[in-house]
Amino acid sequence: MSAKPFCVRCLIREMTDRDALAQIRKYQSQVPDHEKADDELYEERLTVCKECKYLHLGTCLKCGGYAEARAYRTAQHCPLGEQMW
Ligand code: SF4
Repeated sequence: MSAKPFCVRCLIREMTDRDALAQIRKYQSQVPDHEKADDELYEERLTVCKECKYLHLGTCLKCGGYAEARAYRTAQHCPLGEQMW
C-alpha cells in the first residue's frame, strides 16, 4: 500500500494547523483597512503562490513569512519581483 502523497505547496488555510491560521487571521485583523488588498487582488496573489516552487507549507521560502500574510497588504510584493505579484 502506498502512502498518500504529502502536499507541501499548500496555504495555511488549507492545512490543519489551526494555531498558524489563527496567527494569520490575527495579523490580518490588525492591518488598517486602507492597507488591505481587496479580495480579488488577495486571491490573485495566492493563486500565484500556489504555483510557486518557493511555497512550502504556507511559508514563502524566499521571504520566510506566511504567503497569506504578505499577500494581504497592498504595498507588499512578492520577493521575486512584481512580475509575480
Ligand atoms: S511570495 Fe512570491 S516567492 Fe513567495 S511563495 Fe508567493 S510567489 Fe513564491
